[in-house]
Amino acid sequence: MTDMETAATILLGGGLVAFPTETVYGLGADATDDRAVARIYAAKGRPQFNPLISHVTDVEDAFALAEFPAAALTLAARFWPGPLTLVLPRKAGCPVSLLASAGLPSIALRVPQHPLALELLRAVGRPVVAPSANPSGRISPTTSQHVREGLGDKVDFILDGGPSAVGVESTVVSLLDDMPRLLRAGGLAREKIEDALGQKLQAPVAGPLHAPGQLESHYAPRAVMRLNAKEWREGEARLGFGALDAPLNLSRTGDVVEAAANLFAMLHQLDNANSSTIAVAAIPEMGLGEAINDRLKRAAAPRA
Ligand code: AMP
Ligand code: MG
Repeated sequence: MTDMETAATILLGGGLVAFPTETVYGLGADATDDRAVARIYAAKGRPQFNPLISHVTDVEDAFALAEFPAAALTLAARFWPGPLTLVLPRKAGCPVSLLASAGLPSIALRVPQHPLALELLRAVGRPVVAPSANPSGRISPTTSQHVREGLGDKVDFILDGGPSAVGVESTVVSLLDDMPRLLRAGGLAREKIEDALGQKLQAPVAGPLHAPGQLESHYAPRAVMRLNAKEWREGEARLGFGALDAPLNLSRTGDVVEAAANLFAMLHQLDNANSSTIAVAAIPEMGLGEAINDRLKRAAAPRA
């Protein structure tokens, strides 16, 4: 097998592959596989579920995942492939893992420019989520050597494509309301985007759809949450973990990676069951347990 075939096979099997893009090396997983997406957070050691960027081969593939307002069409036509990420409304039936959107109704999309990244995406035939391939809080990797030093055997395969040309992350622009907003400065200059749009980019709104730290006020379940349950009480909707079982159990074997993969879909399901309270079994504060508990605490926080 060529390295490209190996990389595609591992991704399709739910594994993690670091691959070169023109911005930095990405840590890739099949975006439609909850479990593979959960493994990304585990490998990076992220204490929170920040939403991830889904990478696609071209704008037609992107149309299957998100709604494209006029400004998004303009930017995609002008700057894709390239170091620009668009945050857009998720399309109904979008197959990308809810975990990759951190439970939000939006999705971040990019068509990378690096020939090996594009070849890999074509070989996989599915969207690939890829945050920078570094441990959380560390400097983004621009060579395969950086990836090896930072992630070691947490990554199943590294596709080597030499040093990244741009060297900084993509620029992130949100098109979720009538004002285009710059969420993150990056490899594509603000001025170029403003020229293409014929208008200035606004600052992010401090609010649920834009600041990952504040997602809770919008995406909290309607029900009251009782966390760290040690036993079940009458009349509550139940979310089990390990031995504290229920019809919906994040992981019967007590595996926090499996629990992360199930978290958002199960929370949505329980919230739709219309109980006044959702009880959630205690999750150990180990590995991804920290990010799961962070998200649960946000969901349980008093509403704004
Ligand atoms: P990284 O994974 O390091 O490339 O960073 C991804 C960037 O995209 C972060 O700044 C995220 O907050 C941002 N992002 C991804 N998806 C969304 C979304 N649905 N809404 C807002 N920001 C997003
Ligand atoms: Mg990063």
